[in-house]
Amino acid sequence: MTNYEIADHFSLLSKLMDIHGENSFKSKSYSITAFNIEKLPKEISEMDDAELFSMKGIGEATGQKIKELLATGKLSALEKIIAATPPGIIEMLGIKGIGPKKIAVIWKEMGIESLGELEYACNENRLVAYKGFGEKTQESILQSIRYYKQNQGFHLWGEIDVLANALLQQLQKAFPKNLFSFAGDYRRQMEVLACIDIVTDVDNNTLTSYLQKTEGSEIMEEPSVLLVKMPSSPIIRFHLSDSTHFYNHLFKLTGSSEFVAAFTEKYTLADSPESEENIFSANGLAFIPPSMRESASVLDKAAAKQLPVLIQAKDIKAIIHSHSVWSDGSNSIEQMAKAAIEKGLEYMVISDHSQSAFYANGLKPDRIAAQHQEVDALNEKLKPFKIFKSIEVDILNDGSLDYSNDVLKTLDLVITSVHSNLKMTEEKAMNRVLTAVRNPYTTILGHPTGRLLLSRAGYPIDHKKVIDECAAYNVVIEINAHPRRLDIDWRWIEYAIEKGVLLSIDPDAHAIDGYHDVYYGVMAAQKGGLTAKQNLSSFTLAEFEKFLEGYRKKRGA
Ligand SMILES: [Zn+2]
Ligand SMILES: [Zn+2]
Repeated sequence: MTNYEIADHFSLLSKLMDIHGENSFKSKSYSITAFNIEKLPKEISEMDDAELFSMKGIGEATGQKIKELLATGKLSALEKIIAATPPGIIEMLGIKGIGPKKIAVIWKEMGIESLGELEYACNENRLVAYKGFGEKTQESILQSIRYYKQNQGFHLWGEIDVLANALLQQLQKAFPKNLFSFAGDYRRQMEVLACIDIVTDVDNNTLTSYLQKTEGSEIMEEPSVLLVKMPSSPIIRFHLSDSTHFYNHLFKLTGSSEFVAAFTEKYTLADSPESEENIFSANGLAFIPPSMRESASVLDKAAAKQLPVLIQAKDIKAIIHSHSVWSDGSNSIEQMAKAAIEKGLEYMVISDHSQSAFYANGLKPDRIAAQHQEVDALNEKLKPFKIFKSIEVDILNDGSLDYSNDVLKTLDLVITSVHSNLKMTEEKAMNRVLTAVRNPYTTILGHPTGRLLLSRAGYPIDHKKVIDECAAYNVVIEINAHPRRLDIDWRWIEYAIEKGVLLSIDPDAHAIDGYHDVYYGVMAAQKGGLTAKQNLSSFTLAEFEKFLEGYRKKRGA
């Protein structure tokens, strides 16, 4: 069991205790335990008892609970309270904007026990009669329920990537003479998806009997499709083909419906092509990578042989946007730097949180100065690798930055992001973001919408206007690579490129483990047609330093 899973158990226990109105001192301590466990640099499952009980904030009772979880996979205190709670109440915890206290009122005072009832009650304007539920709260609960319902059954690409590949390998090993390929949303690297599509020429009976051996798998049959639900995985859809028509089917099942329709209208899809490459070359088209088979217009680019050479994971030369123990990260700057060196990277940008982010131990100016001393010493020690001094500076409510210019000018570059008061009208959000973009100290606009895929829509911005302004003020736009963010959305990359805006695939790493997220950023960026040249984190150290020179001129230094 991972630390995240252990933390989830404690966090749920704490929330359910609050809903039931149990001892608030205890529930608070469980929530703090969850918070601390999530931040541990080492897996608890690898610790012995002495190490476990010596950890800060882990008392005897909590330590025993962790041991119980690791030994049995269950927490009896949690099981007990779950059994005493209607499932619909637990589901409400997934709705943004209602915490345990509000849920307690909804359940105990309004007598509502399911999301459907709650939605109905919002529509009937019933919530406003209760303390703490104004019209605004009611409206936002309603929107959150709709958002939740729309996204149910969906998964992050980054969450199922490992599982999907393991499954494919397992199948190829079991049927070495047969053909298997991913298709659909997964193959097109869609950031969220409902199922994994696999095309194969294994026949129905053989595949069915093989899949039945997997414990807990449910198989449903549709004409030429097997739907398989396995424990803790999204639905897997096997499309049954024969060897002759395999690539014809693969092609049709990979592209978006818009893409496939446009192709079949203009070009010829052979009945039994030898390969996918063949389908394109037979029509005089350059090969369109699966990730780009979204819009009809990409076909024109392929006809004109003007497809971009897509960025690859190996093109990344740097970690831009990372957090250390100075704010809310889990590793020291030295550990982060050494891990980057091991990955063959040339430089990194350390960008801890700014002072307003008190919840993340954001840096006051005196701590920035102290951090710079540490960075200077490390730069001496780790040459030719270089650490650049930055801060992820909060964009305040009025769009101003979280430090005076005197502090900002001590930084090599500045990433500006919105972290607080995310509930804004588009007018407010735009004023906030555009003011920050116009600030001469802004180098990179961090996660431009603040969205969290499948859980939060982000504040509303007019993407075109933000991109235009970044073009006018030479501001780089981040492609935050965390699989739950992937923000800016890849659908806006093409427009940004058109306007000459640089993008930057940044992991926003809060630990060394976070470096891997760069890969998800690259996957999303490929969908937008990004090349290595248009990505700041692909710049070599020399190119990056030259880029910073231009930036210093901009801010008048
Ligand atoms: Zn951030
Ligand atoms: Zn960050």
